Amino acid sequence: MSIPMKPDDPAYWMLFDGRTSTPVVFDRNCYICTDPEFAQMGMPLCRVCISCQETDRGDGHIPADDEVCSVCGFNGFEHYMKQEYESRMNDQTQENSYEAAYEDPWEWI
Ligand SMILES: [Zn+2]
Ligand SMILES: [Zn+2]
Repeated sequence: MSIPMKPDDPAYWMLFDGRTSTPVVFDRNCYICTDPEFAQMGMPLCRVCISCQETDRGDGHIPADDEVCSVCGFNGFEHYMKQEYESRMNDQTQENSYEAAYEDPWEWI
């Protein structure tokens, strides 16, 4: 970047892109979304709601400290666990060969 951005530039937060978490959704009633320091600190930020996206309601808004979409009430955590479970079932044959790595991740660092 050759032109320095001013802090009041609407795209100023992009300066932190790559080094910190990037906001993907914005809800002006949400204290996490409206506090830019969360992003600068690299804190987990609010997420899109796949239920909203699937039903063309926009990106939705699942607060970083919650699992339920504040737009439609969809429970992102339940969905995630279900997906995790299904992918584990599918990967079970592969998982066996990596079992040691799962049991002792420090060995790989
Ligand atoms: Zn938020
Ligand atoms: Zn939603």
